[in-house]
Amino acid sequence: ALMITDECINCDVCEPECPNDAISMGPTIYEIDPQKCTECVGHYSEPQCVQVCPVECIPFNPAWRESREELQAKFERLQAQK
Ligand code: SF4
Ligand code: SF4
Repeated sequence: ALMITDECINCDVCEPECPNDAISMGPTIYEIDPQKCTECVGHYSEPQCVQVCPVECIPFNPAWRESREELQAKFERLQAQK
């Protein structure tokens, strides 16, 4: 999963781009729910939020490093819940 750092300027552009609805406004800045972020695996070849963020504040979440296979499995779990 990816994460949003405190450099976020709340510009709102990433939230609608997330195919997994993993991005939402937190207490002060936007946040990514690591249970829902597949790093866009299953939807796109590149993380969409990273593509649009103007301040490059969306790195990997060090607490949620996952293999491509794990991300694919998460994608399939999320799809099954829809
Ligand atoms: Fe959503 Fe993709 Fe960004 Fe993860 S990497 S938060 S799935 S847009
Ligand atoms: Fe924050 Fe970047 Fe999302 Fe804008 S695009 S709300 S700066 S994380």
